[in-house]
Amino acid sequence: MPDDARAHGPAMAFETRLSQLGRPAKRAGKGTVNVPLIRASTVTFPDCATLRDARLRRLDQYGSYGIHGLATHHALEDVVAEIEGGDRAAIQGSGLAAIVVAMMAYLKAGDHCLMPDSCYGPTRNLCDTLLAGFGVETTYYDPCIDEAGIAKLIRDNTRVVYTESPGSHSFEVQDVPAISRAAHARGAKVLMDNTWGIHHFQPFRHGVDVSIQALTKYVVGHSDVLLGSVTVKNAEWPAIKNAQVTLGQYASADDVWLALRGSRTLPVRLARQAESAMTVARWLEGRPEVLRVLHPALESHPQHALWKRDFSGSCSLFGVVFQPRYTMDQVNRLIDGLDLFAIGASWGGYESLVLPTTGTLTRVATSADLGGPAMRLHIGQEDPRDLIADLGAGIAALDTPFTALED
Ligand SMILES: *Cc1c(COP(=O)(O)O)cnc(C)c1O
Repeated sequence: MPDDARAHGPAMAFETRLSQLGRPAKRAGKGTVNVPLIRASTVTFPDCATLRDARLRRLDQYGSYGIHGLATHHALEDVVAEIEGGDRAAIQGSGLAAIVVAMMAYLKAGDHCLMPDSCYGPTRNLCDTLLAGFGVETTYYDPCIDEAGIAKLIRDNTRVVYTESPGSHSFEVQDVPAISRAAHARGAKVLMDNTWGIHHFQPFRHGVDVSIQALTKYVVGHSDVLLGSVTVKNAEWPAIKNAQVTLGQYASADDVWLALRGSRTLPVRLARQAESAMTVARWLEGRPEVLRVLHPALESHPQHALWKRDFSGSCSLFGVVFQPRYTMDQVNRLIDGLDLFAIGASWGGYESLVLPTTGTLTRVATSADLGGPAMRLHIGQEDPRDLIADLGAGIAALDTPFTALED
């Protein structure tokens, strides 16, 4: 893929590179700003020699069939690799598919996997059902584990040490460099779900071998497409590419094109929504009804120092734990009454979302009790003053007896 931005090297700002990468070269005379949407299963060749040549050359680059992706896919691969600071990225039809590709690339019967207890729920399900059935054993570990602690859990057959930081719903920040050192000392690969970190956590600078993102979230950014990615340095590319194609993983070119469109505004959306999220989080933290706000960028967060050391920023997803004197029923009522926050899974779009947390978490190595009834907020593009007003009305009603509200 010809692009002027790569030629200039990484000296330019992230925003500049994201704006320039994965586009038809300025001087190629193609006449469009954006890479065309190429939908294709079949790729045709003028003669047998050209077909043979395409296969012998880098199959994955030129493509002799749709499964390998064509120019639209390659453009998004370049953009995602740029976002995460990797060499190559493979695109899948969902974030969960990306997790499956990465895990299947490294695990086989008889292997052992270490998984943080705070992992994304469907990742746990993959380990406990399909991978267990294939003879892969998983041990869940406390996400706040230190280097010596994880070293003790690593066995001779541990092939994958998985990380996800911050943790799903409970938002523990992991010491990824320490965990990576322990894993590499025993020859295990470090996989990471970096969906929250986006580009604020640069996985390959912290020892990660394979980084997974749900592009569905911030890269797509408009809650209308599911996509995932597995990003690596060159050394891991053959393993990932093989798993990707062997598992028949493919993403629709239309969806890929929409993700490319989303990626162009990622820096401004992320900056604005992260800032609004901090405004709302700080306001919530000041409310007496709130026990704690689970946001790594708040000084009160237990692993704030780790976040500050390893992340260059945050996104707009965080948790709110209410005082234990409230019941989850009361919090559900608060959620039901919000006007600007839709109740729904996923996040990273332009719109605000809320999801009840209590009662939905599975934890086996740590406690699922966050200290009180909890919910998760995703802050969108709305003005934070309006969001605070909406939340404020709901929180003020928390102490109103249920019967009075029914009148
Ligand atoms: C949403 C999400 C996924 C899965 O992404 P989908 O595209 O919805 O399959 C994986 N990991 C994390 C942390 C997520 O938030």
